[in-house]
Amino acid sequence: MQKYTCTACSYIYNPFIGEENIPSGTAFENLSESWNCPHCGEEKEGFIETPVNIQEVSHLRNITEQEASHIPFYKEQGDSIIVQIGTVDNPHEIEENHFIEYVWLFESDGTIIELTLQPEEDTVTFENPGYDEYEVRLSCNIHGVWRGVKIE
Ligand SMILES: [Zn+2]
Ligand SMILES: [Zn+2]
Repeated sequence: MQKYTCTACSYIYNPFIGEENIPSGTAFENLSESWNCPHCGEEKEGFIETPVNIQEVSHLRNITEQEASHIPFYKEQGDSIIVQIGTVDNPHEIEENHFIEYVWLFESDGTIIELTLQPEEDTVTFENPGYDEYEVRLSCNIHGVWRGVKIE
């Protein structure tokens, strides 16, 4: 689900959080047409899709703890791809207002497989992905989209 940004005040509607009187999981498209920005009152038409910037780290040696907690480290094992979120020392926190939304596998034919992290887990497993060429990404509801790093 896409986030939407108010063009008047930059408030971001996050469907994973919802709002007062709007349950989390409500897509922007499903908000009533009379819905207004809760911050400035702008009409629904005044919202645009929030752009997604993909974050990546180039040198694992110099990453911060916050970066370390967001990188999906992945490895191939048999027919599966196992993705660990963050490092053992820096797991991503799982809180009501700060959590991993999705882990994605983008395959070379355009297929996207989307998994969610289960409570108490810090890994997800893609079983039998169909392609050798793929990319792993995750999205944090606050810190955006992160590109995976392959480990052996
Ligand atoms: Zn607004
Ligand atoms: Zn985060």
